[in-house]
Amino acid sequence: MSAQDSYKKLIESIREIAVLASAAGVLGWDERTHMPPEGAQIRADQLSLLSGLVHERFTDPKIGDLLAELEQSELMKDSGSIEAANIRETRYDYDKATKLPKDLVEEMSKTTTLAQSEWVRARAANNFKAFQPWLEKVLNLTIRKAEAFGYEGEPYNALLDNYEKGMTVDVVADTFEGLRKELVELLGKIKDAPKRPDVSIVERDYDVNLQRVFGESVAQAMGYSFTAGRLDITTHPFCTGLGPGDTRITTRYNPKRLNDALFGIMHEAGHGLYEMGLNKKDYFGLPAGESASLGVHESQSRMWENQIGRSLPFWRYFFPQAQRIFRDSLSGVKIEDFYAAINNVTPSFIRVEADEATYNLHILLRFELERAMIRGDLKPADVSSEWNSRFKKYFGIEIDSDSNGCLQDVHWSSGLIGYFPTYSLGNLMSAQFFAKALEDMPDLYEQFERGELLKLREWLRVNIHQHGTRYRAPELLKRVTGQELSYKPLVDYMYAKYSDIYGF
Ligand code: ZN
Repeated sequence: MSAQDSYKKLIESIREIAVLASAAGVLGWDERTHMPPEGAQIRADQLSLLSGLVHERFTDPKIGDLLAELEQSELMKDSGSIEAANIRETRYDYDKATKLPKDLVEEMSKTTTLAQSEWVRARAANNFKAFQPWLEKVLNLTIRKAEAFGYEGEPYNALLDNYEKGMTVDVVADTFEGLRKELVELLGKIKDAPKRPDVSIVERDYDVNLQRVFGESVAQAMGYSFTAGRLDITTHPFCTGLGPGDTRITTRYNPKRLNDALFGIMHEAGHGLYEMGLNKKDYFGLPAGESASLGVHESQSRMWENQIGRSLPFWRYFFPQAQRIFRDSLSGVKIEDFYAAINNVTPSFIRVEADEATYNLHILLRFELERAMIRGDLKPADVSSEWNSRFKKYFGIEIDSDSNGCLQDVHWSSGLIGYFPTYSLGNLMSAQFFAKALEDMPDLYEQFERGELLKLREWLRVNIHQHGTRYRAPELLKRVTGQELSYKPLVDYMYAKYSDIYGF
């Protein structure tokens, strides 16, 4: 077979696997939006069968043989080509998928299923001691997993790599350390500031149907296509790219708060635009047709949610519309007061409810603790006290219960260790990408004032979306912005915004 024929064969095989995986994706979407509660067992059976089939097909030695042949072919000559990237990254994923012994995969799956239900109980009872043995079990299995994958430096690198290919724990730790100092200082300034937003403006009656209409109109203005996507209701909002022409977002509405669904929709639509901008027509399932990393994905959602959605120029256009739609709650409200209200900063216990300024501190704390656990520097028994003392130091408030502290997130019980940093990496990259977009399009904010968001969408598509994983995240960031990962653009952006709102 010629190299071209083998390459075609690889594309076809991977595409078929992606089609199978996307069928599981539809079932997963349905599970979280429409499925009746009693359908849970058959759905679990369906999903487990499908994910087993996907794994079996992807780890088929025939894929390995094709890759070995292609690696020796002329297709690898130009290492920057899409073909070379597809072969290289598929090899990388293939090796990872074949490295874990079957018994470890099964044990991990069983243990995390049990650990999750123990975690739900422990959190409800505010009883960390009950969860601690499960944390120990998951941790031990996770360390075994890291050993099976192999790593340079410390085992945490093997875990981080599952979500953020090409990133290393040293770079993350250095950047986060710098960011933490800046954020703690910024929060101090905000705390002592003379001005305070009136948050009651966004905590009035907001009709759920009208919220949906307004949210959809904003998503549409962003370029989210409702003929290639849809918006549904769920408990924990998410976006799922099911394949070419089908990218779905979800949200939840609070009739007493405008922010949750509105910024939630912008966030998920930001993820959606990335999915819609990937070249899935040619490379569905292949690295060139898949997102570069979770961090890059989050950079897209956070950019739309924060840099655009929480900016004053954006609201110069959309606020008069919001006032017409939510007449009872917003008439007579000044745009500056509304802008301050949607940017309110208040340190609080719960990560998922955190504002833009405190959010990253929640992540940094989790990263520090899980890294220390994987290194063996922190025993699960000490997690609660360590969490609380760091929280006091970073946020200036005392944790009142483990349910509001180290028991609040599902990640550790699910074996998702190494995942947390991607949230903050997304925030950092969003600021870096956005600063570059502003440099390339100095009139960007004037565009927002006119309600024009599509030029930014196009800039993101050309510079980021269409490449998929042709470049890994650190290389993509460098190519687009000319910079390595940095906390400075995010900190600069925050200072500009909050000094204006809080008057410091
Ligand atoms: Zn997200």
